[in-house]
Amino acid sequence: DLHETHDLELIEQARMPHRDTRWQAGPLIAGDVVGGEPHEVRNPARPEDVVGQVTLCSDADVETALAAARPWGADAGERAKVLNRVADLYEENFGEIFAVVAREAGKTPKDAVAELREAVDFLRYYAARGQELSQGPRGVFTCISPWNFPLAIFTGQIAAALAAGNAVLAKPAEATMLTAHVAVELMHKAGVPRDAIQLLPGHGATVGARLTGDARVNGVCFTGSTATAQRINRVMAENVAPDAPLIAETGGLNAMIVDSTALPEQAVRDIVASAFQSAGQRCSALRCLYVQEDIAKPFLDMLFGAMDELRLGDPWDHSTDVGPVIDERAQADFAAYIDAAEAEGRLLKRIDAPHQGHFIGPAAIRVSGIAGLEREIFGPVLHIATFRAQDIDRVVDAVNASGYGLTFGLHTRIDGRVEQITSRLRVGNAYVNRNQIGAIVGSQPFGGEGLSGTGPKAGGPNYVPRFAAETLPNGD
Ligand code: NAD
Repeated sequence: DLHETHDLELIEQARMPHRDTRWQAGPLIAGDVVGGEPHEVRNPARPEDVVGQVTLCSDADVETALAAARPWGADAGERAKVLNRVADLYEENFGEIFAVVAREAGKTPKDAVAELREAVDFLRYYAARGQELSQGPRGVFTCISPWNFPLAIFTGQIAAALAAGNAVLAKPAEATMLTAHVAVELMHKAGVPRDAIQLLPGHGATVGARLTGDARVNGVCFTGSTATAQRINRVMAENVAPDAPLIAETGGLNAMIVDSTALPEQAVRDIVASAFQSAGQRCSALRCLYVQEDIAKPFLDMLFGAMDELRLGDPWDHSTDVGPVIDERAQADFAAYIDAAEAEGRLLKRIDAPHQGHFIGPAAIRVSGIAGLEREIFGPVLHIATFRAQDIDRVVDAVNASGYGLTFGLHTRIDGRVEQITSRLRVGNAYVNRNQIGAIVGSQPFGGEGLSGTGPKAGGPNYVPRFAAETLPNGD
C-alpha cells in the first residue's frame, strides 16, 4: 500500500538517482539505424525540466524494421520464460520506471505503481497463456499505443502478440517514447530477440500510418482515440490482407448513475477517483454523472467539497492527487472548453490550478444529459445531469444512444435496479458501487463496444486473429 511510509521511502530511494537523468532514446531495430529528426521531451508539470531526447525513425528505418521482422521462433515454453524474465526486470528497475513515467507522462506515484503492476500482470498473464495462444497463425503485428498508460498498455499489447509467437513492430505515442525505450531495452535484455520486438518512435501520421498500411503486416493492435482507429481501419482495408485483424481499444463517453438510495460518501469518493484520478486521462474515466433529482443538492455540495480537497501539483511529490495534463495543446483545449461552459452559465465548480506547468483545475459542468457531450474530453472535466426516478430507463437509452460503450458506473442499494439497468446496457465494463476506472481484477480482458472498440473479447486469450477489420464502425 502506497500510503505506508516504508513504501514511500522505498519509492523515493529507488527513483532518486533518476531525478535529473536525461534519457536518450531512438529506434531499436534489427539493422542499422539512419535516424530522423530529434525530439526533445519535457516534463509536463515542470516544462523547464528536460527529461530526454528521442531520435525519431526515418522512412529508411521503418523499411529496415519491416524487412527484418521475424516471428519469434522459440517454443511457447521458452517464450513464456523470457516474458516472465521481462516482468522480473520491470520489477527490479521500478525506480527508473517510476522516474521516467512521472517526469515524462506526469504520473503520480500512486498511478505509477498501478501502471507497473498492470504491466507486470500483463506479462505474467500472457506468459501463462503462451501455449493456448500459439494455436493461431504467426505473423508480424504492429502495436500502436497511447501516452496515458505508457508502460502498461504498451507492454500489454506487445506481451500478447509475443506470447502468441508473433513479431512486433511497436509504435509508442509521441508523448511517451522515453518510457517505451526503457521498456524495450529491458525486453531485449531479458532475451526477446531483436527481430521479434522492434521499437519505432515517430509520429502517428507518418510512422504509424506506414506500419498499418503495409502488406507485410498481418495484424494491428491499437489503443487510442476512436478517430485514429477509424483512420487505421480505412488504411488497412486498402493495403493489407482482408483477413488481417484490427484489435482496437478506443475512447468512451462513460456515464454513472447515482440514485437516491446510494451511500453518498462512497459515491462521492468513487466519483472523484473516476473523474479526476490521473487528471481524467483514462479511457475508463467518468465523463457524465447522472444524479437523481431528489438528492442532487446535498449530494453535489458534498462532491464539490471533496473537489476542494484535491491537491494539484508536481506528480513527483507524494502528496499530489492530481498531476498535469499531457501537454500544452491539451491544456489549452480543456481551458477553452471550460471557459465556454462558464460563458454559457453551465460551470458548476472549478478548482484553481498551478500557473506553471500544464495543469487544468478539475471542473464540473452542467449538461442536460450525455447527448450534450459532443466529444470525449480527455481531462479532469466532469459533466453532471440530473434525472427523475421514473426516467431511469431513459437515462440508459441515452447512454446506449451515445454509440460508445466502454465503462459504466451505478451506485444504488436496490438489487433489482442493478439487473434492470445492466441487462439493457451496451457497455464493455459495468461497475456497481465502486469506482469505474481500471479493469476488474480477475476478469481480464478489458474492452469496449460500439465506438469504444472491437469488444472485450478482443484481448486476453482471444488475442489470436479473429476480428475482421470490418467489425469496427466506419466513418468519423
Ligand atoms: P491517439 O489516437 O491520438 O494516438 C494513439 C496512437 O495512435 C499514438 O501512438 C499515435 O501516434 C498513433 N496514431 C495517430 N495517428 C495515426 C495514424 N494515422 N496511423 C497510425 N497511428 C496513428 O490517442 P492518444 O491521445 O494517444 O490517447 C488517448 C485516447 O486513447 C483517448 O481517446 C482514450 O480514450 C483512448 N484510450 C483507450 C483505452 C482503452 O482501453 N479503450 C485505453 C487508453 C486510452
